[in-house]
Amino acid sequence: MDVKKIYMDADALLEGHFKLSSGNHSQFYLQSAKVLEDPKTAKLLADALAKQIKESGLEVDTVCAPALGGLIAGFALATALDVRSIFAERVDAEMTIRRGFEIKKGEKVLMCEDIITTGGSAMEAAKVVKELGGEIVGVAALANRGFCKREHSDIETKPNCKLPQDIPFFALADFTFEMYAPDACPLCKDGSEAIKPGSRGN
Ligand code: ZN
Repeated sequence: MDVKKIYMDADALLEGHFKLSSGNHSQFYLQSAKVLEDPKTAKLLADALAKQIKESGLEVDTVCAPALGGLIAGFALATALDVRSIFAERVDAEMTIRRGFEIKKGEKVLMCEDIITTGGSAMEAAKVVKELGGEIVGVAALANRGFCKREHSDIETKPNCKLPQDIPFFALADFTFEMYAPDACPLCKDGSEAIKPGSRGN
């Protein structure tokens, strides 16, 4: 499956000068919502990801996604795996699980994001799941930004990866473009201004 082509065909691989949620700058931005606006494409991607997970033999009771970014991917993946779908959300910057969602002691939870960059949000949500008694059995994403090692890829874990090394990370592709600290950004040096994706119609 050519995930990069799917993102490009959906105009979801943006080129410009972007300020990422981490504060870093990048020439590219992946707008997964644009890919997932077509439910057929969402299903296609989730089915491929579910196939990889099933083939690994991993047992999953529930998929948990951090809102908002992971919501659609998480729901589509849970549908493909035929398991429960829940989400975590930020309230005053603090990740929480609300909406009456319950987690049984020892429940096997797979965290799901649209894209894993360093895995920070996924691990914040995972912490809450664990506090409620769940067991984090793995992490899944449509695509990997190349900082964490996923199954079936040669990319090595970088120091800023926040995913634990003792559980598997499944993704369909690696998108390994550069990120820059604002004071070291070549695009800023060229005089352009970084924009927050979503702020100007993108
Ligand atoms: Zn910049």
